[in-house]
Amino acid sequence: MILVTGGAGYIGSHACVALLSAGEDVVVFDNFSNSSPKALDRVQAICGKPLAVVEGDVRDQAALEKALSEHGCTAVMHFAGLKSVQDSVAEPLEYYDQNVIGSHRLLRAMRATGVRKIVFSSSATVYGTPQFLPYTEQHPLKAVNPYGRTKLVIEEMLRDQHVSDPSWGIAILRYFNPVGAHESGLIGEDPKGVPNNLVPFVAQVAIGRRDRLNIWGNDYNTPDGTGVRDYIHVMDLADGHVSALKLLDTPQCFAVNLGTGAGSSVLDVIRAFEAASGRPIPYDIKPRRPGDIDAYYAATDYATRLLGWKAVRSLETMCADHWRWQSSNPNGYA
Ligand code: NAD
Ligand code: UDP
Repeated sequence: MILVTGGAGYIGSHACVALLSAGEDVVVFDNFSNSSPKALDRVQAICGKPLAVVEGDVRDQAALEKALSEHGCTAVMHFAGLKSVQDSVAEPLEYYDQNVIGSHRLLRAMRATGVRKIVFSSSATVYGTPQFLPYTEQHPLKAVNPYGRTKLVIEEMLRDQHVSDPSWGIAILRYFNPVGAHESGLIGEDPKGVPNNLVPFVAQVAIGRRDRLNIWGNDYNTPDGTGVRDYIHVMDLADGHVSALKLLDTPQCFAVNLGTGAGSSVLDVIRAFEAASGRPIPYDIKPRRPGDIDAYYAATDYATRLLGWKAVRSLETMCADHWRWQSSNPNGYA
């Protein structure tokens, strides 16, 4: 049985599909602060298999211990936390509380119940300003905002824990830019309020919820002047988690990139989404967004060697699947 914290969220719900499809049993632990229980009904419909749900906060160690022991858990996938860079600048204490204290309580609950395997959602933001590209796992770690620093502190806490007790199995997965949705169109990303991220915003323009996209800068040092990122299909990402979990049968601690290795510009994404949706994406060029980096993308060799995993879905598939979710659920889970 795998405890999936934040399992009702965007990436967690797709990971639940991947886990159930791989024959694992799942208990989701989520406070639904940024998700809907409906996502979990849909996960069960996709897989034709039930999962257990515990409503709770990851800062509540006693609730975690109860869930881990009552469900006989052998491993944890830890997605629960806050993820907006902008909000983390405005509310750093909230970010340290939910992300760092939440992860700390989770590790203590695991230690108390003898569960020693964890797959953790880290982020490419731990690398900070690129000193070279692609980012390899050896790139210096220097997060440049509070959100990234919470991820870095958690990574260090996990590495320290492994040094103190090498019988733990710890997989730190550094995600690049997850987009897309399960091919069924039943689950997907459902941001509250105005989306910060590119693809959810583009999708809402395509469906008519927003008039136009603002492109934050076209004077970057990139082939077409717009920002370049490594977009990865959320189901490829989810499959990467299952591969990482399998390795933890042997105690070890590793940090690995989950990306495609390919960079796409904002204009590439717009063109791919227009083709997938058959809708125009009108846009305006606006000044750069503070703190944005020209370009970054992943080195993928280590993931291929270590996990025997590779992202296989194209930008076209990411947009087609994202559009299927958006067009069949114009208002998300609401
Ligand atoms: P999400 O907000 O969709 O999912 C997070 C889930 O955790 C939600 O269901 C939310 O209700 C739950 N949650 C939040 N705080 C909680 C708490 N204190 N206790 C219990 N549950 C709580 O986010 P996501 O995009 O699925 O991201 C999942 C993880 O991946 C996060 O840790 C995020 O930082 C990390 N990550 C995301 C991205 C991305 O672009 N989406 C990139 C890199 C890393
Ligand atoms: N972007 C944009 N308009 C938006 C949102 C994003 O032009 O409304 C650009 C942003 O400047 C960056 C790219 O799209 O170059 C990806 O941004 P996102 O926020 O999705 O990911 P991140 O910057 O966190 O990697």
